[in-house]
Amino acid sequence: MNRQIPFNKPFLTGKETQYIEQAVAAGKISGDGEFSLKCHRFFEKRYGFTKALLTTSCTDALEMCALLINTQPGDEIIMPAYTFVSTANAFVLRGARITFADSEPHTPNIDVAGLEQLITPKTKAIVVVHYAGIACNMDAIMQIANRHGLYVIEDAAHSIDSFYRQQPLGSIGHLAAFSFHETKNVIAGEGGMLSVNDPKFVLRAEILREKGTNRTAFFRGEVSRYEWVDIGSSFLPSELTAAFLYAQLEQIDQIQQKRIALWNRYYEQLTPLETQNFVRLPYLPPWSHRNGHLFFICCPDNQTRNNLIAHLRSMGIYAVFHYLALHKSPYYQNKYTGGNLPMADYYTGCLVRLPLFYELGFDEVDYICEQVTAFFTGHQRG
Ligand SMILES: *Cc1c(COP(=O)(O)O)cnc(C)c1O
Repeated sequence: MNRQIPFNKPFLTGKETQYIEQAVAAGKISGDGEFSLKCHRFFEKRYGFTKALLTTSCTDALEMCALLINTQPGDEIIMPAYTFVSTANAFVLRGARITFADSEPHTPNIDVAGLEQLITPKTKAIVVVHYAGIACNMDAIMQIANRHGLYVIEDAAHSIDSFYRQQPLGSIGHLAAFSFHETKNVIAGEGGMLSVNDPKFVLRAEILREKGTNRTAFFRGEVSRYEWVDIGSSFLPSELTAAFLYAQLEQIDQIQQKRIALWNRYYEQLTPLETQNFVRLPYLPPWSHRNGHLFFICCPDNQTRNNLIAHLRSMGIYAVFHYLALHKSPYYQNKYTGGNLPMADYYTGCLVRLPLFYELGFDEVDYICEQVTAFFTGHQRG
């Protein structure tokens, strides 16, 4: 069997290099030119973000969130342990302590039932991650945050074009961070975006992003010169990145449609394995939506998961595990003073992601599902 199915393959719409050439020809290749503005307008119009600001990565957008809420040494930030390192690093860089929350039994998202008991007088914010683009219980989270005067930041890296009821993800918390890394639905190589939903952060977000200057207001003609007015860094991407991204955004409906169709195909074909209790499929809460960001299954234990990955690899299929829960990471384990997080450990040990990318064929999904099924039932099919 020499069929090879990679885990991911970046999809190009075909217009990317044309738009990059256009930006080069226009002689404006630093940040916030025409293509950046087109991207900002696209997001603000389609998803209702008060302000969209492209950044060089989701990591940078999260660092901007930490700065915008004035994270200070000693502040506590609550977030799930089952997440990417950048979610935590952004706040650790400002001296915060991380209070890691467990995941839900049904989804890798933050466990809302245990959330309120993690809040102390030092808590400043709750960061949620909509794992696989499946929405956290945002009404409950916003109610808890409002009751305690906390900020809510959405790590929306997986969540483009996904929804909590009718609300786009990334439009609900005070701030949100998106990623356009090549593994995400819509890509720019490396790239990200801050979405600002609380208007009080808009002006300062522009300043932090432009090295602590009011250059953005200057370009709009609102001030006569630009000066150093606050702390900041260089968080904005070049026009080359924005031009690439805009080509992708023009095709977003087509990209989402295909990814969701692939996701549904996996779900249908693997349902019998769930019915027979071999695996657990992603659970979609009633308020949530799927955006086809990634398809995962959960095995009953770590050994089975690792054996499944090895079996698929031997059949030319590249399936991969995901996060190693951060409370047990080499960097944080000695600093962690919280309790056991059994569900975060469970997803660390038992979750596996199957290939999902725009150019993946439905016949390839069928083949992958046959191999997963064969692994569990011992029957070779097809
Ligand atoms: C991909 C990802 C990030 C980081 O995105 P970059 O754009 O690579 O910085 C952050 N959080 C989560 C949950 C991610 O999946």
